[in-house]
Parts: sequence; structure tokens; C-alpha cells
Amino acid sequence: MTDRMAPLNEMLGGRLLRSVSLARYTTARIGGPAEALFIADTRQALFQALLAVWSTNTPYHLIGEGSNLLISDSGFQGLIIVNKTCEIEYHLDGQIPLVIADSGFNLVKLARLLAEHELGGFEWAGGIPGTLGGAVYGNAGAHGAEMASVLESASILHQNGKTESWPCPRFEYGYRTSILKRSTEPEVVLQATLRLERKPEEEIRALMTTFNNRRKATQPPGANLGSIFKNPVGDHAGRLVEAAGLKGFTIGGAAVSEKHANFFINAQNASADDYYHLICHVQTEVLRQFGIALETEIEMIGNFSQENHHGKQN
Ligand SMILES: Cc1cc2nc3c(=O)[nH]c(=O)nc-3n(C[C@H](O)[C@H](O)[C@H](O)COP(=O)(O)OP(=O)(O)OC[C@H]3O[C@@H](n4cnc5c(N)ncnc54)[C@H](O)[C@@H]3O)c2cc1C
Repeated sequence: MTDRMAPLNEMLGGRLLRSVSLARYTTARIGGPAEALFIADTRQALFQALLAVWSTNTPYHLIGEGSNLLISDSGFQGLIIVNKTCEIEYHLDGQIPLVIADSGFNLVKLARLLAEHELGGFEWAGGIPGTLGGAVYGNAGAHGAEMASVLESASILHQNGKTESWPCPRFEYGYRTSILKRSTEPEVVLQATLRLERKPEEEIRALMTTFNNRRKATQPPGANLGSIFKNPVGDHAGRLVEAAGLKGFTIGGAAVSEKHANFFINAQNASADDYYHLICHVQTEVLRQFGIALETEIEMIGNFSQENHHGKQN
């Protein structure tokens, strides 16, 4: 254990893992080592880990399923906190059924569990491989719905150790953004309260199957990060990348999917640099050909090589 991690390790009951590859904590299966990593499997553990990094001024990053993150090959110097909290409470007596779930809940598992309880309104999230906290943070959405349409409130932990309940409007949601995402304050979603509707399980499952079939038909399988770019107003990033002739374009092991041009796949042990340079190349080409600056939807952590990487068209 490096010196600066020793006090943190003690504060966290000796549960820090060292020099862990982050590739297994991201859906693209990419990422170098974390100096230290902590799995927060309860709300209490998450709370303690956050207070520990805040009180010791240790660099850290909180991650959910790493489904929206490109982590550099050099990894992360500091503590990675992986949110695996997954408790759930049902409040079904009122007119509107409410569910309070921990922010580390995987969305796919949560949607299935809600279906078993005959609670609808969350079917759209059943194919998104992130956590509830990541979805509240980034206003995840699909099939015409988004977090903003089901979130009643969320409990937020601040750096002073206080928690606050924020009603949905306080998040100032926009397309894949929220006040949390735009803020420089380290605010963390601990739990979210979802406003649902009573619905027969078969109806919920049928809708989830339709959505998942649509996903399978239009999106590539395998290791990836979902949509790389936000859709520019009035257009689709995938359409622009395809129109730029970049479907199948590869740099190293990273490739623009042949199935959906806004998905880049880790085709052959891609490095984070391969991915990064593919993103830069696509942005440059789309800007050159159509005058549109594509903005990334994914977030990048760490340093990426600025050297030129040459790609090729399949
Ligand atoms: C195959 C595939 C399909 C996808 N489809 C969709 C889709 O249809 N719609 C869509 O919107 N997205 C989609 N995504 C992207 C991704 O799943 C979402 O952005 C998801 O909400 C990210 O959640 P996460 O837990 O993985 O967050 P991570 O990627 O781990 O983290 C992303 C950011 O959220 C922050 N964060 C995570 N948890 C918390 C918390 N509890 N409190 C505060 N901040 C937090 C992190 O610090 C980080 O800055 C897809 C991704 C993949 C790989």
C-alpha cells in the first residue's frame, strides 16, 4: 500500500484493493490500473468511503457500471469507489406506487425486479447496463422516456457529510444532463425514489421484450460504451458518422460499428488510446464534412496520448 493510501485503508477497514485493472469495471473492458479501489456494497460503506476521500483530500472517482466511461491506459492515480449498493424499499399503499432504491442498483436488474412486482413505467431502462445513480446523474433515457419522467426525488450526499432530498425539478434535467453533471461540487446520489404505475407483469415483460428486440436489431453486441456522441439538435450522431463514410473505420482494436455508427466497439483488445483517437478522428471528419461539432456523451478519465494514430477503413 502506498503511503497516502495507508490512512484511507485503515479508515475503510483494510478493504482497499491495490493496482486493480479497471478494464473489468467498464463495459468497454478498457482501462489501466487504479492506484486503489474500494467496493461499496452498502450505503454505509459508500458514505464512509466518500467521507474518507473528502476528509483526506484524496483524488477519487465514483463509478457505477462504468458503462459511460472511457478510462485511460495509464489508469487512475487515486481511489476508485465502485458503487454496488442495492437495497430496495416498496411503498405501495398510496395512489402512486413509489420505490426507493439504492444508487448502485443495476438498471437491468431493477427493471426485472419491478416487473416481478407488477410495477411499470421503468421498462425503458431494462436494456441500459448502468446503475440507477449513473442514470440519475446523466438523465439516462431510451424509447422516448428518461429518468426525469420517473424520478420523484433522490437523496444526495454533500461533501459536508449532510444528505438532502432533492425533488426531481431540482436536477434541472436536459438531454443526457443534469445539474449534478454540470456542477463542480462533489455531490453523490445515494438513493432514488421512483414514481411507478401498477401494471400486469405480462404487459411489462412484453414491452421490455419489444424494447430489447429493437436494441438487438439496431445496436452491436459485445464490449462497448453505448452511444459515443450526443445527438446534435435536429439530427442523429450515428447518421452523421455513417454519412461521413466512417462505418467500419478502425484505429488499432477500436472500430466504428457496422451496425450503428454511434457505437464504437472494442473489436480486438482495443486500448483506451485507440478509442480516444477514433473519437477524435470521427469528430474531425464530421466537422470537416458537415460543419457539425459532435459532443461526446461518454466521459473520459485520465490522460490520453496526443500522438497521431492512423486508422483504416474496413
Ligand atoms: C450497450 C450500452 C447501451 C447503452 N444504452 C443507453 C441508453 O439507451 N440510454 C442512455 O441514456 N445511456 C445508455 N448507455 C450509457 C450508460 O449506460 C448510461 O449513461 C448510464 O446511466 C451510466 O451509468 P453507470 O452506472 O455505468 O455510470 P458510470 O459510467 O460508472 O459513470 C458515469 C458518470 O456518472 C457518475 N455517477 C455514477 N454513479 C453516480 C452516483 N451515484 N452519484 C453521482 N454520480 C454518479 C460517475 O461519477 C461518472 O461521472 C448505454 C451504454 C452501453 C454500454
